[in-house]
Amino acid sequence: MQPVFREIAAEVKKAVTVPVAVVNGIRDMGTAEDIIRSGDADIISMSRPFIREPHFVLRWQKEDNSPSKCISCGKCMPIAVKSQSLECYEEKRLREEAKE
Ligand code: SF4
Repeated sequence: MQPVFREIAAEVKKAVTVPVAVVNGIRDMGTAEDIIRSGDADIISMSRPFIREPHFVLRWQKEDNSPSKCISCGKCMPIAVKSQSLECYEEKRLREEAKE
């Protein structure tokens, strides 16, 4: 999955003098580094990867730069709206499967 707003961020960056962040669909370190090195954006922003795996950036710091486990299914969003709490649907599903 390519970051959805990368091209838009690059266009915005050409028009402004403040740092530009890009979000949505960034799940691996190579893509994040490529965005920064290319100058398409100044800041990488992520949300759902932290819902699935709150400490995943620490993995990246420790040289385990495997992609985020978030599969971008979006099923955590209705849960958040309904229950006012953040929880990864996939993690919950896998936990329940493991119990069976
Ligand atoms: S529910 Fe889906 S989109 Fe949300 S954090 Fe889990 S894997 Fe990612």
